[in-house]
Amino acid sequence: MNFDAICSFLETTSARLETSWQMTSLNSIAGLRVPDFITGKQDSVLRADINTLWTQWFLESICDPERFAEGYPGYAHIVHAVKIEVPSLFTNIEVSKHGELIKQISRLVDKEIQRRQTRNRIAFDPSVKDALWDVHGPEPRCWICGYRFSQWAIDKFLGRVTSEEIPQLQFIDYLKPHGLNRRDFQMEIDHVFPFADGGDDDPSNLRIACGWCNAYKSDRLSIYDVGAKPPIIQHPKLGRVSIPHPFWNVRLLSLHRRCEYEGGCDKTTENAELTVTSRHQEGSMNPINLRVTCLDHDHLGSDRFISKALAERLLKK
Ligand SMILES: [Zn+2]
Ligand SMILES: [Zn+2]
Repeated sequence: MNFDAICSFLETTSARLETSWQMTSLNSIAGLRVPDFITGKQDSVLRADINTLWTQWFLESICDPERFAEGYPGYAHIVHAVKIEVPSLFTNIEVSKHGELIKQISRLVDKEIQRRQTRNRIAFDPSVKDALWDVHGPEPRCWICGYRFSQWAIDKFLGRVTSEEIPQLQFIDYLKPHGLNRRDFQMEIDHVFPFADGGDDDPSNLRIACGWCNAYKSDRLSIYDVGAKPPIIQHPKLGRVSIPHPFWNVRLLSLHRRCEYEGGCDKTTENAELTVTSRHQEGSMNPINLRVTCLDHDHLGSDRFISKALAERLLKK
């Protein structure tokens, strides 16, 4: 992409007010290819997620899985719903191939319905917990963020009677507000691949996650599933600052699982608790600006930590 093309791309796509409500302007924007510098280091996540989100909307537009959240309608019902729509959707595909398309789309819709019905399933027998111990070792950390569990969490997880105190934090990381709820400290079992997508209860598909990560990971799939605008808070020292939606945080942490410091760093979620910071200090905390970091390679320093009382007021849902 040459200099003129870069300038023209930025000019055209940033003129939101002038273009958002005019079909002709939207048509010209739709024809542009997004240059790599726009998506930066999170390029793969952003592009892959938008493609999968569009496919999700497409499948939902044919047959909405939420309608069957309380009961499975039967495969025949799904096929019927898909069969009605396929001829008008694929007018350029020969009719002899429609049967295959109906089959494929029905299967995908069916899978999504089943995924939504099983996503909250958490019933494990003790042998699964023991097997996880072998994967995580004696000092387990959250596989997503690297939080190191306390003895209280370990005892609770293994169903032991414990005299340990529930961890209490005086300060909270405002960009990763772990520690506002008791659940945050707790050990939970996470399916790396959701059950209905072919993942199962085999220990190779299971990891231990902290309650905070697990809560934000569980019900969403794409970075675009949450608002495009990061919320704003009033930080006692930094003033008006944005905070990333916790799902973005968890998504990037789980995908990278190491400090992304440009100069190189050996901190991973296996040996440290990681968080996120911004690439550009004056920038908004949106997914393009986020970078997974260890505490040594974070330009915010101690400003990242605010008192628990303030965090409760600003950040607790
Ligand atoms: Zn975690
Ligand atoms: Zn680092």
